[in-house]
Amino acid sequence: MPKYVYDFTEGNKDLKDLLGGKGANLAEMTNLGLPVPPGFTITTDACRRFLEDGGLPEGLDEEISQHLTALEGRMGRRLGQADDPLLVSVRSGAKFSMPGMMETVLNIGLNDQSVHGLVKQAGGNERFAWDSYRRLIQMFGKTVQGIDGELFDEALEELKHGRDDLELEAADFQRLVETYKGIVREQTGQDFPADPHDQMRMAVMAVFESWNAPRAILYRRQERIPTDLGTAVNVCSMVFGNCGMDSGTGVAFTRDPGSGHQGVYGDYLQNAQGEDVVAGIRNTMPLQDLERLDKSVYDELMKIMATLENHYRDLCDIEFTVERGKLWMLQTRVGKRTAGAAFRIAVQLVDQGLIDLDEAVTRVSGAQLAQLMFPRFDGDAKTPKITTGMNASPGAAVGKAVFSSERAVELAAAGEDVILVRRETNPDDLSGMIAAQGVLTSRGGKTSHAAVVARGMGKTCVCGAEELEVSTKERRFTAPGGVVVSEGDVISIDGSSGAVYLGEVPVVPSPVVEYFEGATDQDDELVRAVDRIMTHADATRRLKVRANADNAEDAARARRFGAEGIGLCRTEHMFLGDRRQLVEDLVLASSKEERDQALAALEPLQKADFVEIFQAMAGLPVTIRLIDPPLHEFLPDYTELSVKVALAGDRAEEKDRRVLAAVKRLHEQNPMLGLRGVRLGLVIPGLFAMQVRAIAEAAKAVEGARAEIMIPLVGAVQELEYVKDEAQRILTEVGVEALVGTMIEVPRAALTAGQIAEAAEFFSFGTNDLTQMTWGFSRDDVEAAFFSKYLELGVFGVSPFESLDRDGVGRLVRIAAEEGRATRPDLKLGICGEHGGDPDSIHFCHQAGLDYVSCSPFRIPVARLEAGRAVLTSTDSDTR
Ligand code: ADP
Ligand code: MG
Ligand code: MG
Repeated sequence: MPKYVYDFTEGNKDLKDLLGGKGANLAEMTNLGLPVPPGFTITTDACRRFLEDGGLPEGLDEEISQHLTALEGRMGRRLGQADDPLLVSVRSGAKFSMPGMMETVLNIGLNDQSVHGLVKQAGGNERFAWDSYRRLIQMFGKTVQGIDGELFDEALEELKHGRDDLELEAADFQRLVETYKGIVREQTGQDFPADPHDQMRMAVMAVFESWNAPRAILYRRQERIPTDLGTAVNVCSMVFGNCGMDSGTGVAFTRDPGSGHQGVYGDYLQNAQGEDVVAGIRNTMPLQDLERLDKSVYDELMKIMATLENHYRDLCDIEFTVERGKLWMLQTRVGKRTAGAAFRIAVQLVDQGLIDLDEAVTRVSGAQLAQLMFPRFDGDAKTPKITTGMNASPGAAVGKAVFSSERAVELAAAGEDVILVRRETNPDDLSGMIAAQGVLTSRGGKTSHAAVVARGMGKTCVCGAEELEVSTKERRFTAPGGVVVSEGDVISIDGSSGAVYLGEVPVVPSPVVEYFEGATDQDDELVRAVDRIMTHADATRRLKVRANADNAEDAARARRFGAEGIGLCRTEHMFLGDRRQLVEDLVLASSKEERDQALAALEPLQKADFVEIFQAMAGLPVTIRLIDPPLHEFLPDYTELSVKVALAGDRAEEKDRRVLAAVKRLHEQNPMLGLRGVRLGLVIPGLFAMQVRAIAEAAKAVEGARAEIMIPLVGAVQELEYVKDEAQRILTEVGVEALVGTMIEVPRAALTAGQIAEAAEFFSFGTNDLTQMTWGFSRDDVEAAFFSKYLELGVFGVSPFESLDRDGVGRLVRIAAEEGRATRPDLKLGICGEHGGDPDSIHFCHQAGLDYVSCSPFRIPVARLEAGRAVLTSTDSDTR
């Protein structure tokens, strides 16, 4: 039988899969000799079994009992013992931290008898014991029994009657316990469970079940966390921050999660328990002030924080409690940070000698780099600033103010940019936060729910803008000077400075983009950090990075961003605009002469386009794809034209009639699988030849031009041979050399790659089409029709159009790479679908032995970084 329960002394930080992040790190701290209240962890294995079977797995009860007995032995008290109770917390903890997702229940073991035992333990402190008891009923009712938390909150507010919670007395809390018990009875039809073992068992199951709460599912999808990991449960003996002013609870970071700088960053709240510090019930004090309150606790905390940083070699965040002058560590983990801080911290740690550059590259991600490439606000703009809050998560966000999550979702769905404004956020606001451009709160610090979640999502956030009076009911807030902002008014928030503006502030490009663009001024600490990491990633990576670019401007930008060639130059846009007429002429041509005339008119235009691109990329390879889409895409819409012709009746122009006939003739039930790509080349004489000639002439005209001609949609080597022979003839005629290769985007091409490689000098995987055809999905139809359902059902965790499906599409890629190279060992292999800029897909391309990835110009730095990371991270399924 598997081992389901681990004492804190048995685990370590590398067992996150099994013990969850919280449990693994509690064990690590225990083994480092730090003061952690004793306890044990129930594994994620047990959770998965529970969720599958709908009940606790066999043997788990006994195992928990054994560990509990051992814990009771160590602590010298039994769980809920009437005269001297052991109390525990039951805490969730999955592999990835999921802020606010899973619930924790504190003070388990209290009932009408043991509450008196707790009074005795606490030296007669009645207030503390009854406060703890009412907290248990409140948390248990809310999280285990699913009772609306508002009911408890309202009862508390009523009792407080405007008093601060510190002014409440033992008798108040004792009364509250009775009220709370009444709420439980009313809501569940049963009494609050008095048996401590029942309490614990129910709490454990509730934690397991919370893995599948809708909020948790939504967060996992957003963060791409697999759905089948499950959560561990930690049972931890209680320590109390709420037994007087010499006690308290706090949270801290070992460095500033915004800038990365070392220092003391945290909040502390006296005489408080658990979540009080982040819930904003009273104003917290900055952690520095703890030094004044209790120097020895403060010094010990600083020492522990240094120990943790050196041990984890990274920024850590911690939760701690002080019980009557004694410090207890309740949690640590490698802390979330802003994208900018991630780069700065990685380089700072290199400079401190804690990590090397290889590791620094793995400590940042392409997603973070992409965030740093967002524009920022123009500092000189005249838009009035109405207040400043805390800079909780960077970026520049502009949108209409909305005051509820529902409204945010509604307006965003209608295509509006919105800023979610709340007094503070809670887990129910998650969908609104996802829908919004940014989040603004009037309460809570950098460790508040809004701040932590926004940073995790890479969403702009200003929190704790205390000068704002937010009224959710009236859907508006007021700012100093009588400024009133109502729902729908546009505001701008700056997550890097904390500024809030009334109106729309113009945005300016990020310094990181300017650095990539070649700005030489590297005064900025962030830019220097990015530069060092990018330099090392470039030196490390094996994959080359090319760009998808169809014009000289994009090509030039791509080159500045570090592209080592163009992997996909589409030619179809060259058939649009003014040139539509020429395409129409081509389609309508009724004789060879007419057709040749139309083609001859197109050729010089095409040539000019290619000349510009070759100039921008001189010395680097440029892969040009011959025309791919069906020709009717360049003709007028069938319905519109037929209405026009019908209305005109006899007076309809002859030309319109002819075009209509052509549109009708070219109409396809399923154009994606119709007359397009190489098929056009075979069916319409001279079309491909014209394009090849334009490429050849352009290459001849530009010194250093390196053309690669790419044939789309090939499924059989015969198709390619036909086009290739013609192309080769033209190239010889013009007197230039160019590679001729093919897209691999039809499953048959992948499966016959060995044959196709006889004709192809390179392969480029067109993974958009390959994904459509492998799954049998018509992308434009399926995404709207049922993808959300598929994601919800977990058929896939992420859309296969976003991240390459390794098992299916990836298998075809591997087969084609292997069999293609068996035929032609120097076959060049690349990818040019949108996956070329997706971090996880880039790691796949590295593993599959491709030579390059090609992506849009703005993704090039991301691809360079991820290609470097792919070399350095051995287990590649996870690139988060
Ligand atoms: P979360 O994952 O939301 O951080 P935690 O399990 O860390 O949840 O618990 C929530 C709060 O309760 C934290 O502030 C934590 O410090 C506190 N807490 C948890 N267990 C104990 C305990 N045994 N004694 C005192 N406080 C505890
Ligand atoms: Mg915690
Ligand atoms: Mg394609």
